[in-house]
Amino acid sequence: MQMSIVKVYNILLGTYGPQGWWPVTRKDHPEYFPGSYDHPKNEKEAWEIMVGAILTQNTAWKNVEKALTNLIKAKCLDVKCIARMSKKELAELIRPAGYYNQKADRLKTLAKYMLDKWGGNLGKFFHRPVMEIREELLNIKGIGKETADSIILYAGKRPIFVVDAYTRRIFYRLGLIPSEREEYDKIRETVEKAFSKLNEEDKRIVFNEFHALLVEHAKQHCRKKPVCEGCPLGEGCKLKA
Ligand code: SF4
Repeated sequence: MQMSIVKVYNILLGTYGPQGWWPVTRKDHPEYFPGSYDHPKNEKEAWEIMVGAILTQNTAWKNVEKALTNLIKAKCLDVKCIARMSKKELAELIRPAGYYNQKADRLKTLAKYMLDKWGGNLGKFFHRPVMEIREELLNIKGIGKETADSIILYAGKRPIFVVDAYTRRIFYRLGLIPSEREEYDKIRETVEKAFSKLNEEDKRIVFNEFHALLVEHAKQHCRKKPVCEGCPLGEGCKLKA
């Protein structure tokens, strides 16, 4: 029998526990622990997450961490420094994240935009209706829906559900969407509707966890070639059935 989205969320949370994303924040702040949703606590942390959201495009997180560490060592993990640094120098620092020339362009475009249009004031940038922020991010070259929504949710601490390839795979196998190629916004809206009764802050926490939990589930069980034995979602899965 098909499971509701809320049930899927509750089962994943019960199985894997709170994930406490965004991961880099936890690494750099040992006091941070899963289940605390205070971070980012300042604009420096928010910018770090925005940079991470660009760097993580088409690469594993461990490579992003290396690139971020290089930026931290070069004392250049801030909006001004990235906007002013030469593209060549920036590309060299972020080389471990792959596609480094393209990502250097994207980071510089984003940094310059934040500086020119918002004076580097990220707090002000995020203190607006979610869809207004989203529209603006989507107009910046190199920022697609998944990156924009990751930035809004994890850097801006505003409620929006992030859809990625893992979400598509798991939802399709559970029969929650008709195809893995279902439209991005249809999936996002379906999840957001399922939690529409929650207040803003609770929604933010649920969307923060749900995305991270789906990633964890895709790593542990719902891989390309799924490991269905012991899967906590097995009873609602059409693939297993
Ligand atoms: S039963 Fe298998 S295919 Fe279905 S959600 Fe679990 S791991 Fe994925």
